[in-house]
Formats: sequence, structure tokens, C-alpha cells
Amino acid sequence: MFHAEFKSISDKDTYPLSEVVYRDKNGSLLEVSHNRSAWRTRSPDEWRALFRVRRSSFFPIDLSGVWSKRELVLPEIPEEDIVTLKEGWTPLFDAQKLAKEIKLKSLHVKLCGNSHTGSFKDLGMTVLVSQVNHLVKKGAPIKAVACASTGDTSAALSAYCATAGIPSIVFLPAGKISIAQLVQPISNGSIVLALDTDFDGCMKIVQEVTADKSIYLANSMNSLRIEGQKTISYELCQELGWQLPDTLIIPGGNLGNVSALAKGIDDLLELGLVNRKPRIIVAQAENANPFYQAYKRDFDKLEPVQAQKTLASAIQIGNPVSYPKAEQAIRDYNGIVEQVSEQELSDAAHRADKIGLYCCPHTGVALGALFKLKEKGLISSEETVVVVSTAHGLKFSEFKAAYHEQKLKGITPKYANAIHRLPAKANAVMDVLKEVL
Ligand SMILES: *Cc1c(COP(=O)(O)O)cnc(C)c1O
Repeated sequence: MFHAEFKSISDKDTYPLSEVVYRDKNGSLLEVSHNRSAWRTRSPDEWRALFRVRRSSFFPIDLSGVWSKRELVLPEIPEEDIVTLKEGWTPLFDAQKLAKEIKLKSLHVKLCGNSHTGSFKDLGMTVLVSQVNHLVKKGAPIKAVACASTGDTSAALSAYCATAGIPSIVFLPAGKISIAQLVQPISNGSIVLALDTDFDGCMKIVQEVTADKSIYLANSMNSLRIEGQKTISYELCQELGWQLPDTLIIPGGNLGNVSALAKGIDDLLELGLVNRKPRIIVAQAENANPFYQAYKRDFDKLEPVQAQKTLASAIQIGNPVSYPKAEQAIRDYNGIVEQVSEQELSDAAHRADKIGLYCCPHTGVALGALFKLKEKGLISSEETVVVVSTAHGLKFSEFKAAYHEQKLKGITPKYANAIHRLPAKANAVMDVLKEVL
């Protein structure tokens, strides 16, 4: 009854999930395709009731935002093969104060970075590593799992692999990721390879290395990751009382996550859990904007760019693998692609911090796009908006400290909060407090 397999996005080729395959014979991406008629044997009310019960269960896999929706993710995996770190069920921050400031009906920020390794990458990695664990247990000749990464993918891969006892190999662009991100795979015992290239260069090499099927590829080109990440949409919808906002804004690099967001909404529509389509907005950094440029040319085709340095280092990507899926997402969901400058993303992140958030630069990119589109009138005052925050701000302490110390090159910080350096004297403290309070 419930069943899933890999299916090419451009023709009818299918492959079992047990096969080590990432693209079809013509090089097209795959997706995990479900037997959707089985889904319809349950009514929308039955699905809602099931998910409500699991929300209050302490059964280990029910505590995961991903596996509490297991029938819609990997319906056939044995429960004992699942490798979970209780990912998902991340907070939905009510940013009503910020909504009021910019004259918006409502604004929520989905804090996907409040997770085991500090980014949304955990959602996809639990699915991929669980499936690999299942295959290894059945005797598949897989020696290790590998990924290229701008930091967060490698952190997630190494944590899940360490939990499962499966070796992992991470390919990182030397000197281009934060210290916190680098230390994570080192600590979890991955084989860490720092290469003198950028993310796109690492991606190319990892694809060559994983042509040997005993090393399993964990990048988001592998559609198992998308199956976990798509549960962001389910979770948001459940949290908002089985409703979606008018507009969702998400930062995009390799474009797997926006594809996942859209796939989750496709599922909700199919299940009858929602009946209105929201709009999806992808936000990119100006310095790494191939998707924005393609959008401006009416999606004639992807022209890869040499990604320039951006503070939003996890999206410093010039040749996004999931471009075809992301283009479809923008077409299906009446989408917009916006870009923001380094100044805009830095100020946006720290403006939001003033109401209690603690934003990473990528969340700054999404918030910057929100502020810009609201100003341009492309987002109206009547809209409800959810911004997807992709990583925890604590992974980007260098960025945040430098912003407040006014040490970010070329950036005049509008929301910097300077430290008061004072002698250890009560008088001196009182003088300052008199001034600032
Ligand atoms: C991976 C990542 C992104 C980009 O997601 P894509 O699927 O590559 O578009 C954005 N922000 C953070 C923090 C990430 O780690």
C-alpha cells in the first residue's frame, strides 16, 4: 500500500530506493515518488488526527518532526533502522514586533537551526543516513558516505553517520566556512578533506569520487535529502492550525531546500490538508545569484556563475544542482526571486536580533528580501509571511561579533551595539547608565 521509489523528473524511469543512483540515464535529477493513491485511503481528518496523536507521543521516532510523518517520507523502512537525533519540531518564532515595524499582518520565523547540528540539514540527513543504514544492514557494499559542503551539510552528515557507526567523508572549500562548522565534522570523527577550491569545485570532485558506488553521495542532488526537508512544510502547516501563510521566504544556494519546501506543499494539497497555494520567494546574495539572474531572464536557462565571497557563506554557490526543481517551484507557486547586498543581509539579520531573534547571515538574506519586497509593494500589508531561518546564529559568531564591532569590510552597520569599556568603578557604570537608560 504505502510505497515509494526514485523517479526521474523528466521521464518515466523509476528505480528502487535500494539502488545507488542519483540521476537518470540522461543526467536528469530524480525525486522520491510515492504511491499517492494509498495516501488518499485516509481522509484529511484522519491524517490530522494521526499527526495530532504523534505530537504528544514519546515514542522515539514520533519525537522527530520528520519521522512523525513517516508514511509520507520513507514508508517502507523498518523502524529499527531509522537514525534520528529528534530533528524537526523547531520553534516557530512569532515576530509580530517586526511585522508591526514594517506594516505586515503577521510574520513568523521558522527556526530550523535549533536542531542537533544547528541547521535544517539535519532534516534531510536523517532520511539519507537511515536509508544507507538500512542498506548496509541488508549487506549492501557501502563503505562510507561522502558530501561536498559549505559547512552545514558536512556537520549533519558526520553527526548522523557517527550515530549510526558509518564512516563519513566531507569535502570542504578550505578557508571558506565558519570555525563552528569546521569543528563539527572533526569532532564527530569524519574524514575531513579541505580542498583549495570553492564549493562548486568540491561538488565536482565528490561526484567523481562517488562514481564508485561503494562511497554513497549525500549531497542534496540525492533526492532522499529532499524527502526529509519537505517536512518543513508539513510542520509549519500543522503549527499554524493546518493552514499555510500567504507567502514563504527562503534563502537559496544549491536550491534543494526550496525544492523541498514546494514538494511538501504539493503533498499537503494532494492530501487535502490545505486547499490554497501560498507563494514562494527565494532570496539570494547578490554575490552568488545565478538563480536570480535566470529568473530575470524568464528562466531561459541556468547560466552558472563564479560565486563571489559572501557573508552568507552557506549559499556561496554558482552552479546550483537543484535548479530544474527550483524553477518548477517558482512557477508552481507564483514565485519571486530577490537578491540582497552584503549591507542589506547584515542589517536585516541584526535588525531582527533586536526583537529577540539571533539570525545567521542566510536568515539575513531572507529577511533582507522581505524588507525590500515590502518596500517595493510586492508584498502587501495584508499578507501573512513565514521566513525560513536555515541555521543557528551561534554557528556564525565571527560574522555577528564583527558586525557589532564595526569590523565587517565595506559595511556600515545600522544596528551595531557597541560594548561600553569601563574602569571597574561603580561611578563610571552609573554615569553610563544615566546616559543610556
Ligand atoms: C544549505 C544551506 C542553505 C541553502 O540551502 P540550499 O538547499 O543549498 O538552497 C541556506 N542556509 C544555510 C544555513 C544552509 O546551510
